[in-house]
Amino acid sequence: MIQAERSFWESELYERTYDLIVIGGGLTGQSTAHFFKKKNPKASVMVLDRGFFPIGASTRNAGFACFGSVTEHMADMKIEEESKIIDRIRRRFNGLKLLRSTLGDENLDYREPGAYEIFTDEQVYDDALDHIDICNRWLKEAAGVEEVYEQTEHNGFPAISIKHEGCLHPGKMMKTLYQKNLDLEFRWQSQVQNINVELAQVTLSNGIELNADRLAIATNSFTSKLLPELDIKPGRGFVFVTKPIPDLKWQGTYHYDAGYYYFRGIGENRMLLGGARSLDIDVETTTEFGTNQKIRDHLIQFADEVLELPHNWEIEKEWSGIMGFTSTKSPILKKVSGKTVIAAGLSGMGVALGMQLGREASELVI
Ligand SMILES: Cc1cc2nc3c(=O)[nH]c(=O)nc-3n(C[C@H](O)[C@H](O)[C@H](O)COP(=O)(O)OP(=O)(O)OC[C@H]3O[C@@H](n4cnc5c(N)ncnc54)[C@H](O)[C@@H]3O)c2cc1C
Repeated sequence: MIQAERSFWESELYERTYDLIVIGGGLTGQSTAHFFKKKNPKASVMVLDRGFFPIGASTRNAGFACFGSVTEHMADMKIEEESKIIDRIRRRFNGLKLLRSTLGDENLDYREPGAYEIFTDEQVYDDALDHIDICNRWLKEAAGVEEVYEQTEHNGFPAISIKHEGCLHPGKMMKTLYQKNLDLEFRWQSQVQNINVELAQVTLSNGIELNADRLAIATNSFTSKLLPELDIKPGRGFVFVTKPIPDLKWQGTYHYDAGYYYFRGIGENRMLLGGARSLDIDVETTTEFGTNQKIRDHLIQFADEVLELPHNWEIEKEWSGIMGFTSTKSPILKKVSGKTVIAAGLSGMGVALGMQLGREASELVI
């Protein structure tokens, strides 16, 4: 840290008690700050993030604006009661509506090119077909939409089509939100080392201490470093985007195997493919960015042998991002003291849930 005594002017400006400090500048944190400031226009609000820009999941995800495939819902039935699953579907649906109305479809590159879950195993498909009615009932109850899931065939695969699912550009999503938040104070490359949740005090890794009347923690997968007692496990996700593939037949948005695999068309005939964490789940339970060669090789094989991409296709860009999972996949939103709330554990669904959760956090932190 640069050693220098504070000037009178610096002290007046910076040695203040903020009305709200938000830790984490991803979709959840920035949404918390956005809606708090909207309701309290005179409030002083600071957002802290350790990255040069948010570096977790919000700018590194696959851009599915989705509320779940049939086999994903079936997997959820094993770990969560029905009312909670319906509630989460409702939150995903409403979260996407809020995101689109706040930021605008054009700014998000939002599209609905047609969504499908595809199957390669007859038994799994039959089982999924048996669950279409219940999933349609849940969607009707949660969001008032009818016949969302329907038996079909797509590109020669047995499939279930999904109405109302879309996709967007996560980078543009975060840039647009940032541009709407210019009346907030942002401090990038500011890693929070310690917090006092009772006093709403924050100590940065460079030794600077900050005070607030209220604190919101939106650090998703990295929360355990600040609040180890919370049940949030990290999960690394791997994604790649191909170079343009002429006449690409996968132009929609697609799910496979309980949502563990996802792929979609983007831009000029490129394909994004990601997932398969389930292949090496223990190794992928990490907050470290990086590539698991086993998963990368497997996804390439999946693209070749299952999706049958033409022989000369190539990867243009590949990366990882870190998600935060709770044991039931329902996010944690609660007060951890009179002054501090936590909004984290979006369990791989944060494009849909993040803004809604942030808005709820901004109401809880008052
Ligand atoms: C590969 C991948 C694909 C995904 N695909 C989809 C998808 O298609 N659809 C979907 O709905 N969801 C998807 N997700 C999930 C979604 O991206 C996340 O749920 C969502 O972005 C979480 O937002 P967040 O703001 O809560 O967390 P993050 O975006 O992770 O933000 C947390 C922020 O906290 C900061 N931070 C952490 N610790 C500290 C600290 N000590 N001090 C200061 N700052 C700190 C980090 O730098 C980070 O910017 C995907 C995730 C990944 C990784």
